[in-house]
Amino acid sequence: MTNKVGLIGFPVTHSISPTMHNAAFRELGMDWEYDAMAIPPDILKYGLREPMQHGYIGLNVTIPHKEAVMRLVTPDPIARAVGAINTIDFRTNTGTNTDVQGFIDDLKAYHIPLKDQTVAVLGAGGAARAAVYGLAREGATVVVVNRTMQKAQVMLADLTMSAGIKGIEAVTLDDAVDMPLSLIVNCTSAGLYPNIADSPWVDGVPFPRNITVYDMIYRPMKTKFMTQAENAGGRALGGLGMLVRQGALAFKLWTGIDAPFETMYATALIELALKG
Ligand code: NAP
Repeated sequence: MTNKVGLIGFPVTHSISPTMHNAAFRELGMDWEYDAMAIPPDILKYGLREPMQHGYIGLNVTIPHKEAVMRLVTPDPIARAVGAINTIDFRTNTGTNTDVQGFIDDLKAYHIPLKDQTVAVLGAGGAARAAVYGLAREGATVVVVNRTMQKAQVMLADLTMSAGIKGIEAVTLDDAVDMPLSLIVNCTSAGLYPNIADSPWVDGVPFPRNITVYDMIYRPMKTKFMTQAENAGGRALGGLGMLVRQGALAFKLWTGIDAPFETMYATALIELALKG
């Protein structure tokens, strides 16, 4: 019998995860199938129960359900620390968050040093939580910049409560540029398709020269923020590697088999090009 896994979110039509995972299953000759299910928030409970009762091994979870599923399955320590689940294993009824490791693994694949480095995280949503948690765990000194300062403060208070992370400051962009930054990570949705003219780096604040930036956005693959960094002599990396790596980690969790990363990455690239 075919083993089934999938994605729940609302909407899910934009997702490249089904193509990416199904390519991986084909590559390894596995009788597995990954599909996407659009589940509106008001029926989330049934949206989980239905696939579970139909024998699904597990699910990926995307916007807007990542926080809400925390109440419906048991979060592991990483999901509890971040406050969001993106991968569920129905065999143990647990949820984890592979965004954290997917992000850190991608930075490491680019040989970006983290320990004792000063890193600015832009944003205070779910992606920023994963980034701050992962970077702090790697021994980086993190500062957070968010359009709504209060939201950054709430995020940091939550991370202190859930993961014991202390000493991280929420600062303004002006204050951040005066710090000895070695990396800036965009965890905001500013610049995300179709709003490609947006950037979290507001006009009037000089972009630090020769700095590495990582933009979690992968659509478009080159954001305005990345161009701003390159124009200031820096190195700019997009978020596609993170997307593939969080998927590869979910693949390993469900199947017990190492995911074929190159196949998943190449498939994701083609799918992005096709979706425009
Ligand atoms: P979210 O929870 O909705 O948070 C959005 C954040 O973006 C908030 O901090 C918000 O600031 C900020 N923001 C939105 N528009 C802005 C603008 N025009 N200028 C400045 N700040 C703005 O979203 P999320 O789940 O954290 O996701 C954030 C981004 O990460 C998305 O683009 C998503 O696609 C990407 N992501 C990528 C991966 C990957 O695998 N590569 C994984 C997860 C997420 P306020 O608090 O002021 O509203």
